Amino acid sequence: MRWILNMAVAVSLFLLIATLVVWHESHDYGMIYSNDPWRITLIDGDLMVEQSNMLLGGTELGISIEHFDPPMNIRELAPWAYGEKQWSIGHVDYYDVEFTLTGPTPGVFFGQALIVPLGYLAVLFAILPLLWLVWLRKRSRSHRVRRGLCGACGYDLRGSTNKAAACPECGATP
Ligand SMILES: [Zn+2]
Repeated sequence: MRWILNMAVAVSLFLLIATLVVWHESHDYGMIYSNDPWRITLIDGDLMVEQSNMLLGGTELGISIEHFDPPMNIRELAPWAYGEKQWSIGHVDYYDVEFTLTGPTPGVFFGQALIVPLGYLAVLFAILPLLWLVWLRKRSRSHRVRRGLCGACGYDLRGSTNKAAACPECGATP
């Protein structure tokens, strides 16, 4: 059970670092990962995840790094492709379109897009590593207390007779 938690913390920490790197890079150039019908776009601090059968060049598998000049903005791009927002909470936007075409090229066209600021993801991925740090501090504190040391500073209290007294080194009360 413990190793699952450790793995989760490690994965979360890795995702946090990756998000911060990508967030920084996305201000210089856009990154597009597409694997039909999915596409992930990272531009200017925003992440857009799309699932659609309307994607142009969506059959290409892999990551493409593109310099956009002038820099593109997902917030302006999405309405152009998907029309009206379905909903928007904070800076998280969701688009959902579906329409039927008749005529020479009949078919159902669909598309969903979710836009999330990379900063939000960084905060999300930071939660688990922070909890882990808090837990580590708590654990080292209880280890010290069990060994007869001051929980706050580690000063040796085994010689003191009054167990309820404040630590003579740092003044912490047990
Ligand atoms: Zn102390």
